[in-house]
Amino acid sequence: MEARYYITEEGQDIRCNLCPHNCLLKNGQSGICRVRKNRDGILLSENYGKVCSLHLDPIEKKPLYHYYPGRNILSVGTVGCNLHCRFCQNWEISQTNVKDYPYLKEYSPASIVDMAAAEAGNLGIAYTYNEPTVWYEFMKDIADKAIDAGLNNIVVTNGFINPDPLKELIPVIHAFSVDLKAFTEAFYKQLTSSSLAPVLESLKTIRASDRHLEMTNLLIPDENDNEKDFRKMMEWINKELGPDTVLHISRFFPTYKLTHNATPESLLKKFYEIAREYLHYVYLGNVSSDKGRDTYCPKCGHLLISRSGYHTRLAGLEDDKCAKCGEAIPVVVQRA
Ligand code: SF4
Repeated sequence: MEARYYITEEGQDIRCNLCPHNCLLKNGQSGICRVRKNRDGILLSENYGKVCSLHLDPIEKKPLYHYYPGRNILSVGTVGCNLHCRFCQNWEISQTNVKDYPYLKEYSPASIVDMAAAEAGNLGIAYTYNEPTVWYEFMKDIADKAIDAGLNNIVVTNGFINPDPLKELIPVIHAFSVDLKAFTEAFYKQLTSSSLAPVLESLKTIRASDRHLEMTNLLIPDENDNEKDFRKMMEWINKELGPDTVLHISRFFPTYKLTHNATPESLLKKFYEIAREYLHYVYLGNVSSDKGRDTYCPKCGHLLISRSGYHTRLAGLEDDKCAKCGEAIPVVVQRA
């Protein structure tokens, strides 16, 4: 499948403009993401239609806590990623290519939409597991058909995408779950082989649209646990995206190239309290207890949504308002 968002340079050289790496590719070369390749001056999307995971997941797993809480969503992913995070939890699929990964199955966009529509109670389709923007053409083709079928589209992304493809994607995506991995360029460069500034731009663009947005920050001991930097991140979110922005602070476990100890729960709780100084809705992920899982009204403290494991209960909401004081809550729920 021919890819989009590229230009021809000298001879058969081409430049991919899908993400801020803007890879210049000679004939036969693949991009940093390993799944877009120059073949005779044409950019190919090598992972088009190649699926490595397809599961019905709770939406809380994405994680999205304020978008149809308690519902399931058909989740789909492939191989490849434009970042090389040393702490990637899905590195077996993100840091490989189509040729080296033998477990890919072929699907058409229509077959995935049909499957999603046939699942009773399914909310739609989530593009996740690896970085979905390096699957741009396939994701977009599915998403267009999903809209026609009345399904919701959700993207779980690192946000490292150029402005034009993002702007084209936004109208067909209902909710975004975006990783903000740290708040320094040094972290992004050394631990992800990318950069922070384009991610911040993507977040501002999504926030300026009417689409649902939640964010995740993986807290890694000795790497992004500097309190000063974290406060700067919280100030930026508060100012640029608003205090109602939903933030998930997630616990790190040693994986792939990063062998640090897991994040102490005491550190997570400390950063949770700091984040709450700036934001109304902060949650803890990958923790053993249920602390930091429930949603409370920021005005009166009433319990709105309780979560235990993946069991979710709408405890104190009336539509999208606090049942006790009537405060409007930024949550999308099935209306009665
Ligand atoms: S999407 Fe892939 S090929 Fe295109 S610029 Fe990004 S890393 Fe390079």
